[in-house]
Amino acid sequence: MATTVLTKKSLGLDTTVEPGVTPPPAPPEGGTSFAKKPKITSKSRKRDIPEGLWTKCPRCSAMIFDKELDENLKVCPTCNHHFTIGARERIHSMVETCSFEEMDATMISVDVLGFTGASSYKDKLNSNWRKTNLKDAVITGIGAIGPHRVALGVMDFSFLGGSMGSVVGEKLTRLIERGTEKNLPVIIISTSGGARMYEGMFSLMQMAKTCAALAYHGQAKLPYISILTNPDYAGVMASYASVGDLILAEPGALIGFAGPRVIKDTTQAELPPGFQTAEFLLDHGLIDAIVPRKEMKLRLIEYLDYLTVGIRAREVIKA
Ligand SMILES: [Zn+2]
Repeated sequence: MATTVLTKKSLGLDTTVEPGVTPPPAPPEGGTSFAKKPKITSKSRKRDIPEGLWTKCPRCSAMIFDKELDENLKVCPTCNHHFTIGARERIHSMVETCSFEEMDATMISVDVLGFTGASSYKDKLNSNWRKTNLKDAVITGIGAIGPHRVALGVMDFSFLGGSMGSVVGEKLTRLIERGTEKNLPVIIISTSGGARMYEGMFSLMQMAKTCAALAYHGQAKLPYISILTNPDYAGVMASYASVGDLILAEPGALIGFAGPRVIKDTTQAELPPGFQTAEFLLDHGLIDAIVPRKEMKLRLIEYLDYLTVGIRAREVIKA
């Protein structure tokens, strides 16, 4: 097929192509016979393939047409590598059309500490608002996944590394409390580098706050499903992400508290192969299942069918 041919040719040209960049023209000297073709080839290639339409898979090096990557939910069709996906795109792929009612959509962070470093927190926030079109690192709301209404929170790594500040903590806490009030399961899909250092202690206290809300949700005998996606670290993993009744992860996701280098330096020990991957943590019992992105919605419906039997029974008794 045409796609395969193009993939092979572009790989033959230059293996240092960055993601999101059109394959460059052939090198002038010492290339393959393809590279020595007349310049017309590279010119016509430039015309045919506008810049930014291809992404190189970091795992298998295949060049993937961006449209194909989008249609495949940002999963490499060759090697199943899961690329980072935005929160809105993920919600769109999971909830029923028009069923999602977003909560606290306008809540934004405040620079309560007047933090300044290499750049100020205010500058960071301003650039991230412009760059990502998001207000903060999580989107929350009530929506339907198949026949199940759920309280759904989805984090977005593109906003300040998915860091958990006061807004992430507050939005998730309100979501969980709404879930408790409305008798709904809670699903949180997390990706994060950890607590947001610009907010100091205000970000750390979100760990306790979200977990307290989840404890009340649990006491009401309502299920909480935590879905871990790449990467998922530090304060988020040490709080709401790791206390799910059911903990799922995407294939290949890196999950941990401190990063491997810090652990290696501290313990002065060789880390086992595959350390901190979803697969390693499944073997060691932290995770209940690894679910590919494209199967996530159907698998969630199955899990919810099972986990909401009690809720449905209580509703029947009340009626
Ligand atoms: Zn790949």
